[in-house]
Amino acid sequence: MKMQIGGKAVDACSGEFSDIINPATGELIDRVPRGTEDDAAMAVEAASSAFSGWAATSPQRRAGILYRAAGTVRQKKDELAVLLTREQGKPLTEAKNEIEGFANVLEYYCGLASSFHGDFIPVPQNGYAFTIKKPLGVCTAIIPWNMPALIMAWKIGPALVSGNTLVLKPASSTPLTNLTLASVLSDAGLPAGTLNIVTGPGEIVGESLVKNSKVKRISFTGEAGTGKRVAELAASGMKKVTLELGGSDPMLVCDDANLEAAVAGALRGRFYNCGQTCTAVKRLLVFESIAEEFIKKLEARVRNLRVGNGMHENIDMGPLNNRRQWEYIKELIAGIEEKEEGKIVTGGRVPEGSACSRGYFFEPTLVADVPEESRLLKEEVFGPVLPVVRVKDLDEAIEEANNTCYGLGASIWTNSIDRARIGFEQLNAGIIWLNQHLKVAPEVPFGGTGESGIGRENGPDALSEYLDLKTVMIKT
Ligand code: NAP
Repeated sequence: MKMQIGGKAVDACSGEFSDIINPATGELIDRVPRGTEDDAAMAVEAASSAFSGWAATSPQRRAGILYRAAGTVRQKKDELAVLLTREQGKPLTEAKNEIEGFANVLEYYCGLASSFHGDFIPVPQNGYAFTIKKPLGVCTAIIPWNMPALIMAWKIGPALVSGNTLVLKPASSTPLTNLTLASVLSDAGLPAGTLNIVTGPGEIVGESLVKNSKVKRISFTGEAGTGKRVAELAASGMKKVTLELGGSDPMLVCDDANLEAAVAGALRGRFYNCGQTCTAVKRLLVFESIAEEFIKKLEARVRNLRVGNGMHENIDMGPLNNRRQWEYIKELIAGIEEKEEGKIVTGGRVPEGSACSRGYFFEPTLVADVPEESRLLKEEVFGPVLPVVRVKDLDEAIEEANNTCYGLGASIWTNSIDRARIGFEQLNAGIIWLNQHLKVAPEVPFGGTGESGIGRENGPDALSEYLDLKTVMIKT
């Protein structure tokens, strides 16, 4: 596939390409241009040229185009899901959910197209004031590989509906679904240059986009370390920035919780998308009085997960997306019992058998008796490994839950309204669930505190991030 700049499908200025590999089979799926600084600059120019026309288009008309695109995406859901599974690795059912999520988010922002306008503000003794909201101009979106379609929608929905133009840089291992979705938008009538996609390395294309003086706003999703680098570069240009970064979400299971529901929640919360979800359950904190029973039930469910190529039927968990992530998980688990960092209850190896012989597969893994200083609790474990910690009571669970630099999501599982309330108030997280984990919706603000980032996506407030607010005061 080619990049999309100014409404044209183009190769990179360097003429070089990068291979896109199926993580389940190791096979080459396609090649994409290896973009350069010049390509990034050209895309910003194209977005800049398109800006005045798109900003002058009525919000209803803008929404009409996005709505049409969302409809086509729904029609092509199966085909798009196959592409997503082939480049990302997730099971086909999860890929279909994600493609539907893309359409849902776009449609949600279409529904808000008439809602953003300034306010009239009476000012006693001094007349009145009003505010004007305008799009910012050229924005940049940089996205990761774990949910490339959904995260693309989180960024382009509010940006485009509010009249901005955009340059998007996909992750290097998953650009194909993003490029295909951009073509759907173009076919739906999005004017040339309104949405541009530049493929290529983050250190080159991503940094060039962040540094470009014509870019007014950056929305970044990825690791905390990369986010800090983006923030530094954005600060020197005084640019607006949203950072959606990693997490180490705790799941707190109290002794009065519905155990069956909590076991199912932990299973899905950790192993969905092979554990590669920013708000996955990354630390399981269970009251010690129920820990034995809980671990036994969870172990049985984890052992039953079917691992394999996401294209095959009845697969619960695919491979990790890329070699770097696979090597990280293997290294993390190697010798964990010898290092006294926990006891492997189940999993812990690269699976055997021909179905998993060529991909980046790892067994779904449960680790018990994990000490406080273990890497499993300190780092963001972005893969199918779940550490379990036994806690005395709710106070200890909350203390342990907050013992992290991250603050993305957290869940509390209890039937007590008092325990739930204490959790809502005391857990440091941008999103807190009661008796569920992982659920997100276009209407609900999403984002973290601490090293999990700055700003929020989704919900009506995300639109404000793409609008410039001007105040006018009138003396009467
Ligand atoms: P990553 O390595 O930080 O990469 C994210 C994106 O940034 C990719 O497109 C990458 O390009 C690009 N990039 C790399 N270096 C860059 C630089 N110096 N300047 C500008 N851009 C640069 O993260 P990832 O491994 O793809 O994604 C996993 C992480 O994303 C996890 O930490 C996960 O928790 C987080 N995440 C957060 C959320 C949220 O909403 N909070 C949602 C999903 C994922 P290349 O691919 O070319 O390197």
